[in-house]
Amino acid sequence: MLTEKKITNDKIAQYKIQTYTLDNFRKIPQIESMGEEKQFEIEVVGNVFPFKTNNYVIEQLIDWNNIPHDPLFILNFPQKNMLSPTNYQKMKFALDHYDKKEIVATANEIRMQLNPHPAGQLEFNIPKLQNGTKLLGMQHKYKETCLFFPSQSQTCHAYCTFCFRWPQFVGIDELKFATNESNQLIQYLQEHDEITDILFTGGDPMIMNSRILSAYIDTILDADLPNLKSIRIGSKSLSYWPYKFITDRDSEDVLELFRRVTNNDINLAFMAHFNHLTELSPPYVKLAIKKIHDTGAQIRTQSPVLSKINDNSEIWSKMWNLQVQLGCIPYYMFVVRDTGAQQYFGIPLVKAYDIFVNAYKQVSGLARTVRGPSMSATPGKILIDGIVSINKKKFLSLRFLQGRNPDWVQKPFYAEYDEKAMWISDLKPAFSNKFFFEEK
Ligand code: SF4
Repeated sequence: MLTEKKITNDKIAQYKIQTYTLDNFRKIPQIESMGEEKQFEIEVVGNVFPFKTNNYVIEQLIDWNNIPHDPLFILNFPQKNMLSPTNYQKMKFALDHYDKKEIVATANEIRMQLNPHPAGQLEFNIPKLQNGTKLLGMQHKYKETCLFFPSQSQTCHAYCTFCFRWPQFVGIDELKFATNESNQLIQYLQEHDEITDILFTGGDPMIMNSRILSAYIDTILDADLPNLKSIRIGSKSLSYWPYKFITDRDSEDVLELFRRVTNNDINLAFMAHFNHLTELSPPYVKLAIKKIHDTGAQIRTQSPVLSKINDNSEIWSKMWNLQVQLGCIPYYMFVVRDTGAQQYFGIPLVKAYDIFVNAYKQVSGLARTVRGPSMSATPGKILIDGIVSINKKKFLSLRFLQGRNPDWVQKPFYAEYDEKAMWISDLKPAFSNKFFFEEK
């Protein structure tokens, strides 16, 4: 374990965040080794999907001797096959022949084909105050938990290529959830005493400085809501910028804010996003985890299972074991959502289940807090619970972990076995024409 004294003396710890986007990624020192063709591919795909990286990711996480196969490189840099061949050619043609306005129009046309708001987010999840005001920066899907999207957190320290929130970052306003109306949030929480958890999400809420983050969280604490039991913060900052909790100018203020939450008897759950073991390896991450724990907050970990990045049970069992060793609580293995580059990152449900079970078998009970593989689909969070054989025929056994209708939770149901299916919509119900939750 790296000590605090050592890290403050460490040269790398002194550096400031340097971000790279489509505009300046050719200045990344390591990029030349990749050749002009690969750089152009990044440009083509990066015009459709958001692209941002930083000096920490480049220097500490990516293995530049393993390009183009390095999982952290694939996690962070746009890849040619994230677009279908047709769309890749369309975007390439636009870059070669069109002006800026037409390039953006072509990119938007492709984006709209890629299911930018999966799981009914626009139709079903937008909450309303009792006076009828729509709260566009919030989502309320499951009874106990409300999502809050502060307008200043609609970006991240770096972007993940697979991100299901990709429309948040591409500059199309109607695809964005955001709000700075914390007073409306308080009013909504007061009107809904069934809500026990508020989840700060984005983007990455930890992109906000301590002053802005405190303004939101202190307003919630000051409101003294008897129903509120947990504040969750969904963040990938431990992976992409652990200095947020160590050497950034506001790191002590951030930790002090966390302490204020826990001292108010509110559970602060830091929902950390780790996709690969490599992200947990730098000593700075371990120190940042310790500092968060020292505030009384808990850290839960989650990630989707991703082709070419972590589709291997060894990676998962090692991640879960190390997370437990560091005092974190493994929480979810997700299935890649039906949006964006799902065809590139997604894996069949049957394979995801196999990876989960083989990893689960290799860890102690302390890591078996993890659940998965789970699909965050329109009706709810659906777990692939097993493969069963009935009269010599195979079926997938499924179960709701969360449901739009709370009565669905834990109810088992079955689908025809399908080796290729990657999402609930690819599955056929077994023993019936419809899944039970589709029946009126
Ligand atoms: S850090 Fe989270 S929100 Fe940001 S791009 Fe990655 S997955 Fe998406």
